Amino acid sequence: MSSTRQPALTLLEDRRRRSARRSWWTDGLEAAVWLAAVTGIALMIASGGVAYATSPADWLYAAGRAFGIVAAVLMMAQVLLASRVPWVERAIGHDRAIAVHTRWGKVAIVLMLVHLAIMTTVTASYDGRSVGAQVFAWPEYGWWMLAALVAATAFIVVLVTSLTAVRLRWPYERWHAVHMLVYIGVAFAVPHQFLEGSTFRAGGIAWWFWAVLWTLSIGSFVLFRLIRPVVRIGRHGLMVESVTPLADGSTTVTVAGRNLDRLKAQPGQFFLWRFLSPELRTQQHPYSLSAAPGDRLRITVKPSGFGSTAVKNLTPGTRVMVEGPLGIFTHQSRTRSALVLVAAGIGVTPVRSMLEECEPGDDVTVIVRARSRDEAPLLDEIEDLATARGATVHLLLGSRGQTWGTRENPASISDLVASPQDADVYICGPRGWAQVVAADALAAGVAPAAIHREEFGW
Ligand SMILES: Cc1cc2nc3c(=O)[nH]c(=O)nc-3n(C[C@H](O)[C@H](O)[C@H](O)COP(=O)(O)OP(=O)(O)OC[C@H]3O[C@@H](n4cnc5c(N)ncnc54)[C@H](O)[C@@H]3O)c2cc1C
Repeated sequence: MSSTRQPALTLLEDRRRRSARRSWWTDGLEAAVWLAAVTGIALMIASGGVAYATSPADWLYAAGRAFGIVAAVLMMAQVLLASRVPWVERAIGHDRAIAVHTRWGKVAIVLMLVHLAIMTTVTASYDGRSVGAQVFAWPEYGWWMLAALVAATAFIVVLVTSLTAVRLRWPYERWHAVHMLVYIGVAFAVPHQFLEGSTFRAGGIAWWFWAVLWTLSIGSFVLFRLIRPVVRIGRHGLMVESVTPLADGSTTVTVAGRNLDRLKAQPGQFFLWRFLSPELRTQQHPYSLSAAPGDRLRITVKPSGFGSTAVKNLTPGTRVMVEGPLGIFTHQSRTRSALVLVAAGIGVTPVRSMLEECEPGDDVTVIVRARSRDEAPLLDEIEDLATARGATVHLLLGSRGQTWGTRENPASISDLVASPQDADVYICGPRGWAQVVAADALAAGVAPAAIHREEFGW
């Protein structure tokens, strides 16, 4: 008994330490962003950026430069957050990284445009031109200012298409393709910072400060978003091995390859998948592993739109590109001794793979919510795994009621789990439903940090 208890306790302590380290990384990243912004402004002031200021226009000009500096730092941070750098993914998790990327990205673009408006208005007043004439005069300062105007146009297009009204009307692929303009915008905006801003033209510490930061953020993006997926084709040779239709309408796809252990994937994680079939090669979709990774990777996909429906047409031998593994919906995030896995619909995929990695004797409860047995993907597998590992399974089958359970069985975590305060609760399913489960878990005494959610949409 004691020989199994001791490693379990050590494991728990390890996970708690890792979790604490993760929040250090998250706070550290945010602190680094603000420190970089403050340093950027300090370097501007140190290089005489406000020494000349005597009139309100001069002060406005200096403020315009400061806005540009903060915008540049936020832009770097959002490029870094979207670059799939493994330490960022491990520290904050992909969905949170993307959420912060979206928030900071919008602020960065707005500040960038404020910077452009102030610099244009004040320079126009210094040179005795109209604002419109100043816009057309910028390219006369050098090619880098023309490039900066192209960048501003790209940012405006991205900002407008990110508005909820446009985004909800557009298919994901079209929105995503236009969104990529942000990176073109960044590439076109950077030269004017080095060649026009007097702080940087002079070289020295300010120049190195910005050169290092931009190299880190753009370099991470190029390395992890562009080079790594291509390198992996050669290294792992990922290929569809089998395509199996399931009774509930989902499809399970098994992908084989070489040295898959080097991907360091964990049960519960997901990859961004690009199947190089004629139908799907232009699309990339996130799918969670529906089995613990080993010498194969396995996903199970429920048809919703074009991409997920076309998965059933894949044929063995189709080449596959992946980005990832991504996400922190894994055993590594656990900080309590007991585990509760709650899933609805196709949300069972990461739960199924996490269950596979549980040890017999682990205190595990699995709760599956579906309309009927026939509509619950992978249910037989979950029941078999639960039996083998001694886990308790609660099936909540039936139509929607007032709570996250069914009309007949309005479930609550405190009824289904013996000691919720000692458990980590992992929830995966439709957003609204998952929010209700999370609120119920909180009310049952589960610590906020022990509630983990994976959302199948960003
Ligand atoms: C982390 C994560 C894990 C997921 N795991 C699974 C899984 O195991 N099994 C499963 O069946 N489904 C999973 N999904 C959902 C799956 O990715 C979408 O159903 C699929 O991408 C929809 O594409 P579509 O072309 O069929 O539909 P569309 O009609 O094109 O898209 C429907 C909605 O899906 C979302 N979406 C589409 N493409 C993407 C994309 N490339 N990236 C992010 N969101 C996108 C958008 O919100 C879109 O509005 C997961 C989603 C996420 C975010």
